[in-house]
Amino acid sequence: MAEGPLRSSTVDELADVMRGRRTLVLTGAGISTDSGIPDYRGDGRSARTSVPITYREFMDDPEARRRYWARSQAGYRHVGTVDPNDGHRSVTALQQAGLVAGVVTQNVDRLHQQAGTVDVVDLHGRIDRVICTSCGTRSPRDQLAERLAQANPQYDALLDVVSTPFQPDGDADVAAQLFEAFVVVDCLVCGGLLKPDVVFFGESMPRERRDHASALLRDADGILVLGSSLAVMSGYRLVLQADRAGQAVSILTRGPSRADHLADVRLDAPLTPTLHALIGAIGA
Ligand SMILES: [Zn+2]
Repeated sequence: MAEGPLRSSTVDELADVMRGRRTLVLTGAGISTDSGIPDYRGDGRSARTSVPITYREFMDDPEARRRYWARSQAGYRHVGTVDPNDGHRSVTALQQAGLVAGVVTQNVDRLHQQAGTVDVVDLHGRIDRVICTSCGTRSPRDQLAERLAQANPQYDALLDVVSTPFQPDGDADVAAQLFEAFVVVDCLVCGGLLKPDVVFFGESMPRERRDHASALLRDADGILVLGSSLAVMSGYRLVLQADRAGQAVSILTRGPSRADHLADVRLDAPLTPTLHALIGAIGA
């Protein structure tokens, strides 16, 4: 509820806000940058050579879909090799100390779960799963990767020798001419169109997921934003909810965020060392 000029806070102030309370942790791309996943909105900016596909393009344009899956097949190889970092592990430690009311993440990388955090809401879905847009069947992405490899043996062999940069959504920038011959496969159950189980730009989030995140926040004493500029409405909306309820709003991220004017505690600092210092200061 802070008004007026922005000021920077200290780790001790954040510790005071969280000690003895239960805080909802909302995380964004900034917590995964130390795992080598580029945050294309903040620090670790990568030269993004392709614009993210929109939900409409994916559903309506077979060529756009072919390009998506070809890039994604390349990018997914890297996603599987990424490990959680000390930032993720710090969230687990805070949770085990009883200070966390739940974790809501805007990331689709599943690194919180890999770090041992439980009760995580994957707000924007998960890259390790695929959903059929016709029958709703969910299946492992590994299975699809295998099917795509079999359908595109030459493309996959090429990937073995080409190293490609990749994007947070598992996308990779591979030259367009490679995509023309790429064969896309359909749902094994109904033949329907498969889509990664992630929320695309222009796609609405499943209502029950949004409600779940809101309910976790209602039962919390405050919200702590980690590594997000809150550019996406789904995350910002939770901060607005906390602010309306008079809950403490804390933000730890590099660079400005959309909710800085609402923050009771605001730290512009690197996540991993700051979270270590926080755990020390709380005595968790
Ligand atoms: Zn299906």
